[in-house]
Amino acid sequence: MEKPLFNEGKKSRVFTVDKVKIENEKTHSLIMKESMQSEPGQFILVWIPGMGEKPFSVAASDPLMITIADVGKISGQIDRYQPGDRLWIRGPFGQGYKPYGENALLVGGGYGASPLLFLAETLLKKDINVHVFLGARSSDLLILVDEFEKLPVTLHITTNDGTRGIQGFVTVPLEETIQNLADIQNACVYACGPKKMLFGIDALCERYGIPRQLSWEAIMRCGMGLCGNCKIEMPDTWKEPADKPGSKKAWLVCKDGPTSFTK
Ligand SMILES: Cc1cc2nc3c(=O)[nH]c(=O)nc-3n(C[C@H](O)[C@H](O)[C@H](O)COP(=O)(O)OP(=O)(O)OC[C@H]3O[C@@H](n4cnc5c(N)ncnc54)[C@H](O)[C@@H]3O)c2cc1C
Repeated sequence: MEKPLFNEGKKSRVFTVDKVKIENEKTHSLIMKESMQSEPGQFILVWIPGMGEKPFSVAASDPLMITIADVGKISGQIDRYQPGDRLWIRGPFGQGYKPYGENALLVGGGYGASPLLFLAETLLKKDINVHVFLGARSSDLLILVDEFEKLPVTLHITTNDGTRGIQGFVTVPLEETIQNLADIQNACVYACGPKKMLFGIDALCERYGIPRQLSWEAIMRCGMGLCGNCKIEMPDTWKEPADKPGSKKAWLVCKDGPTSFTK
C-alpha cells in the first residue's frame, strides 16, 4: 500500500475510494486505497469541486477511512461516491486524543462514534482498558457496533427509544462505570458527538473530577482561526481545558481543537 509522507504540507492530495461500507440508512464509510498517517481525533478536509470543503474525522488511517452522515449539500454529494471515484483531501489537522491513564471510557453519540474505533485500537495497543458507550436516538442510527463487538472492550449501548440496549442517554451507563472506578485520576473519558451531549459529559466529569478529552464539532469556514465561525460558546460552568489555558469562553474548533483536554 502507498504510504504518503506525514503531513505532506497541507496541500490537497487525490485519494481513490476502494470500498464503500453502509453503516446505517444515513451513514456510510469510505475506505480509500491510500493511507494517511494521523492520530485518532484529528480531521481531514474533503474538497468537492464547485461545492467547497468540509471537515471529517479520521476513522482509520491505514488505509484512510472516513464515516459520513448524509445531512446536507457536501455530505449528500459524498454519499454518492463509489469504488474508483476520487476525492481531494487535505490534512491531517487538529489535536488528536492523547492516551492517558489505565482506564479509557469512550463515548460516541450518533456518527460521533466515527473516530472512536481508531482510538480504541490505539489505546488497546498500549494495554489500556477500554469501555465504549455508544448512544443514538434509535437502533438504526447506531454505527460501528459490529466492529466494537470484535474488540476486547466492554461495550454499552443506549438508545433514546429503547430499540437497542438501555433506554436513555449514554451518560447513564457512563456515570455507573465512573462510580465503579477504583482510581478516577487514572482514567479518562474521551467523547465525540453533539454539543449538548458533550456539555452533559463535561458537567458529569467535573462532578466526579475525572479527566476528559472532548472532540467538538462546529460549522467550519476558514479552518485557520480567522473567521470565528466554528466558535463554541461554553456554558458558565465550563472549566478551562488544561491544554489550552486562556481559551475559556471561546473555543475555536479549527484552531484550538477539535479535542479539548481537561484534567
Ligand atoms: C472537526 C469536525 C469533524 C467532523 N467529522 C465528521 C464526520 O466524521 N462525519 C460526518 O458526517 N460529519 C463530520 N463533521 C461535520 C461535517 O464537516 C459537515 O458539517 C456535515 O457533513 C454537513 O455538511 P453539508 O455540506 O453536507 O451540510 P450543509 O448543507 O452545510 O448543512 C446541512 C444541515 O446540517 C447543519 N450542519 C452542517 N454542518 C454541521 C455541523 N458541523 N454540526 C451541526 N450541524 C451542521 C446545517 O446547519 C444544516 O442544517 C465534522 C465537523 C467538524 C468540525
